[in-house]
Amino acid sequence: MSKLLEVKDLNVSFNTYNGEVQAVRGVNFDLNKGETLAIVGESGSGKSVTSLSLMQLLPKPHGYVKSGQILFEGEDIVTKSSSAMQKIRGKDISMVFQDPMSALNPTMKIGNQIMEGLIKHQGMNRSNAKKKALELLELVGIPKAESKMSQYPHQFSGGMRQRVVVAIALACNPKILIADEPTTALDVTIQAQILELMKDIQKQTESAIIFITHDLGVVANVADRVAVMYAGKIVEIGTTDDIFYNAKHPYTWGLLGSMPTLENDGEDLFAIPGSPPNMLNPPKGDAFAPRNKFAMEIDTVMEPPMFKVSDTHYAATWLLHEDAPKIEPPEAVKRRMQGFSSTGGDA
Ligand code: ADP
Ligand code: MG
Repeated sequence: MSKLLEVKDLNVSFNTYNGEVQAVRGVNFDLNKGETLAIVGESGSGKSVTSLSLMQLLPKPHGYVKSGQILFEGEDIVTKSSSAMQKIRGKDISMVFQDPMSALNPTMKIGNQIMEGLIKHQGMNRSNAKKKALELLELVGIPKAESKMSQYPHQFSGGMRQRVVVAIALACNPKILIADEPTTALDVTIQAQILELMKDIQKQTESAIIFITHDLGVVANVADRVAVMYAGKIVEIGTTDDIFYNAKHPYTWGLLGSMPTLENDGEDLFAIPGSPPNMLNPPKGDAFAPRNKFAMEIDTVMEPPMFKVSDTHYAATWLLHEDAPKIEPPEAVKRRMQGFSSTGGDA
């Protein structure tokens, strides 16, 4: 498979009145053509900052890439001029943001909003753009698309508006489509629907997808690979099977354990205790240690490297060191991992 995107040792910080917030700390990942990568983690773990960096959309001037590379088809996005980047945003990489209302112009007809990009970025004439806009609305599953072209955003329901935003993002036929929690933080049902919609479209367009969510459950049967972020780092990455059947990082165990299952109505749900660290002053050693009941002495002194579990699977926890005690995941987590393997989904 060929690599579309390679993120190498990415560090992103914000200068604030209180000092430097280290939002992203040494993130590495690749994205292949046509692949769906999920980035998962609690609020504040650095998911959005990572995706904004890919688009060169960090809030300037206080948000900045401190070091690292983001190679898109071999060229570094970090060092691109803003005009070069504008071309990439209109053509190669596009993004669906959380709030569909902020992405739409309330005073402009839906059809015109979709046509705008087609005319501006792809040089289409009006009648071709109109045809294409209609196709896109149909592609994202808007019923009676023809009559919807002349309606305004407020005439659409929240879910339909988000579909329009996806249609706009797709207008340029992007090589990478990024969706960052594409609906309000808690609405995971709609997130799952949007992801399914994107997957359907992917079959026709072959674009790669980066789907960002705080909810591991949303991506279970749809992502090819999952990266789990904590405190600005990827702490575990693997195929969806690696993460759901064979998770190795106690933080991933925590995310799995906090997922309701069909069998038991969530009676054995457990929440990860405590809260993420303050990124103004990230802790020494393993940032997850204070919340990790399996933490060892070394966790408070030294950061764990990425240990290789298999060719596709890596996790940053000292528990994978050859001298570490062999720890089994908590029972509730094991049940979930077995549950995934026995029912298997349709993956
Ligand atoms: P997530 O998307 O995973 O919820 P973010 O990427 O938004 O998390 O945030 C990562 C870290 O960066 C957090 O500690 C957050 O407080 C900090 N951060 C995000 N945006 C800003 C900003 N504009 N100014 C200062 N700090 C920020
Ligand atoms: Mg976010």
